[in-house]
Amino acid sequence: MNDIKDFFAASGCKMTKQRKAILEILMDSRTCLSAEEIFIKAKNINPNICLTTVYRTIELLASYRMLNKIDIGDNKYRYEINSNTHYHHIICMGCKKMFKVQGCPVPDFESSIRAQTKFKIIGHRLEVYGYCPECQGTV
Ligand SMILES: [Zn+2]
Ligand SMILES: [Zn+2]
Repeated sequence: MNDIKDFFAASGCKMTKQRKAILEILMDSRTCLSAEEIFIKAKNINPNICLTTVYRTIELLASYRMLNKIDIGDNKYRYEINSNTHYHHIICMGCKKMFKVQGCPVPDFESSIRAQTKFKIIGHRLEVYGYCPECQGTV
């Protein structure tokens, strides 16, 4: 668990049991989670935790840039760990689950954009939409 300690140290955020638990929930999850989903999982660890505490903790972690807040356009934020690895998201339009996918096709495209526009490019966003196996009824 040294990793998570380093992560707190690097961010300047004081580590508490609750903050650590919420980060661990997000670390263990294959999908980005909404505050309610985090709350349900946090309740399994600590049955006394309340939704307000979860919201507050998430906002705090986000303000230290330890979490990314993602808006997929359904008025409900999803959260993920702000790690340094670059990846993209695929979102199921059925259940609104959001998965991380490895690999990025954009760097070549960026060089071509740079050549066309003379922009100094600092990043990009790419999201893929579809229906997960469960929502296709193939599971
Ligand atoms: Zn789905
Ligand atoms: Zn990319």
